Amino acid sequence: MQAAILIKGGLVVGEDKEVQGDVRIIGERIAAVGKDLPPEKGEEIIDAQGKILIPGGIDGHTHLNLDLGFTRASDDFYTGTVAAAWGGTTTIVDHPGFGPAGCPLDHQITAYHALAAGKAVIDYGFHGVIQQVDEQTLDRMGSLADEGIPSYKVYLTYDYKLSDGDVYRVLKQARKQGLLIAVHPENDGIVGYLRAQFVREGKTAPRYHPLSRPAVCEAEAINRMLLWANLAGDAPLYIVHLSNERGLACIRDARKRGQQHLYAETCPQYLLLDDRVYEQPGDEGLKYLMCPPLRKPEDMESLWEGLAGDIDTVATDHCPFFFATQKLRGKDDFTQCPSGAPGIEERIPLLFSEGVMKKRISLRRFVDLCSTNPAKLFGMYPRKGVIREGSDADIVIIDPSVKKVLTQKALHAQVDYSAYEGWEVQGYPEWVISRGEVLVREGVFSGSPGRGKFIPRKRMALNNTSSG
Ligand code: MN
Repeated sequence: MQAAILIKGGLVVGEDKEVQGDVRIIGERIAAVGKDLPPEKGEEIIDAQGKILIPGGIDGHTHLNLDLGFTRASDDFYTGTVAAAWGGTTTIVDHPGFGPAGCPLDHQITAYHALAAGKAVIDYGFHGVIQQVDEQTLDRMGSLADEGIPSYKVYLTYDYKLSDGDVYRVLKQARKQGLLIAVHPENDGIVGYLRAQFVREGKTAPRYHPLSRPAVCEAEAINRMLLWANLAGDAPLYIVHLSNERGLACIRDARKRGQQHLYAETCPQYLLLDDRVYEQPGDEGLKYLMCPPLRKPEDMESLWEGLAGDIDTVATDHCPFFFATQKLRGKDDFTQCPSGAPGIEERIPLLFSEGVMKKRISLRRFVDLCSTNPAKLFGMYPRKGVIREGSDADIVIIDPSVKKVLTQKALHAQVDYSAYEGWEVQGYPEWVISRGEVLVREGVFSGSPGRGKFIPRKRMALNNTSSG
């Protein structure tokens, strides 16, 4: 007989309403959702009175094992997914780093399958990364989608930034094939100039990092992508790590004009931290060195407003480096510091506490942003992202009465700091269930490496019309 669990009497966040009820799990799936389900023989009963049941969190932007050439992100697919699970995330979609120059599109997918297999504790998928554009790459986008990779990332900056024409070809192919194109939008030319200029002038302290990557450089690149996607027939476009008000205004404007298949992601750091952290004494600012950088309090405010509708998902861009041995590489020159910060475990607790408990977003919207929308956009719905009969039994039980202080010591990522050290949160994931297996049970972890599965994802269903 398959293992069975009955979760009794919690507030179940369903798709259209929240109901006080029970959830029965048989094997890896949800078998029933309802009121007063009678216990069956051999079932484990979890008492969820006073607690909230949400579908397991989905983090669509992580960088486990990211290899920068000179250093590597400190979490691998074991430590990173353990941290994720502790924080209520049961699925990730990782963004692979670049492969060797000239490598075919499937090179990094194959490499990442090898990195994740035998290690991941929760389920996972990968986005593809487009380093060059040619006929072979465009064809492979379609065939790799058949192998469960229907989303790709392009960069408008860094080593493998694509030309305008190449981005356009990718967008056309995405429109044709029902693929989602994620973009890292920053104006490469201006950022490159500013960085070099600051270094020449000896302005190498962490506080010059945000000044070298102005919000306008992000907004301009977002707008460019929006227009190109529109020109490509409203190609499916996903703006990653949106950090500022002007970028959000561009997205809003495109939506007002009727542009379809347009989506935006932000991250907890852009909602909760601002650029004053770069002014901290010593090298502390390096802990927050990421791209795009943290912005102004006004930007944070507008992003919170955006969560009500114009922003679709909250992911982490989890990309941890040890402060003592990796981030401090930038102590005499911020341009030498690996860019990125941890956050995979803190996402759900922070957004629940700062968003739901402080009444800035509804419980339903919180679930949309952290689970349901990522499941839909990345082609895993309704297998993931919903508490529904037949769906994977990925369930997180949040106890809203628990108070916790986030500290690096109590968190689980393989890194020596948290960007949220000392933050007090109200409400915490107390039980974390992945495909019917309890991974976190009131403070005890029992997930084994390799139990996480690759989740083949589906293409997007697109509308036939476009606004272009
Ligand atoms: Mn990233």
